[in-house]
Amino acid sequence: MDTVKSKTSCTDYYSQKCEQILRDSGAKVTKPRLAVIKLLSTATDCLSPREILEEINLTSRKKSTQVIDQVSVYRILDAFLKLGLVHQVFPTGGYIACTHLNCKAGLHILIHCTECHNTEEIDIPGDIFSPLKWYIEQHKSFVPKNHLFQIDGTCMHCRKHDEIN
Ligand SMILES: [Zn+2]
Ligand SMILES: [Zn+2]
Ligand SMILES: [Zn+2]
Repeated sequence: MDTVKSKTSCTDYYSQKCEQILRDSGAKVTKPRLAVIKLLSTATDCLSPREILEEINLTSRKKSTQVIDQVSVYRILDAFLKLGLVHQVFPTGGYIACTHLNCKAGLHILIHCTECHNTEEIDIPGDIFSPLKWYIEQHKSFVPKNHLFQIDGTCMHCRKHDEIN
């Protein structure tokens, strides 16, 4: 599986931006929060709250620092979700780092491969999204606000794999 992506270069940037957003929102930048940020910034797949807990505590035990509990992980993820630092991918409910923290695009879509679960966050240009927004407003008198949704499908890699077999 080619999960090796050039994500490491964004790692530092993501951590710094998260810290800044936390501070700006008045939230404390605690050690467990930083640990979750660091883990998600280097992860190539979505991580469940359980996996996040285990990974962080594995590191803590190695360094003989304090371990955290599952409830703390849920609280951290909940806070991060509200601030837009992370996104949740369905149906697994795993978490991924937002890769567009500095992005001004109006709409983002998570494209999720149902076979390898690879998930990528992409921008949708305004002129493509506008007709959809207009349609929803006209037909349902509903104003879309939270511009992030998920589209399931199969990635290029998994499709090639199917064709060979
Ligand atoms: Zn995002
Ligand atoms: Zn973007
Ligand atoms: Zn795939």
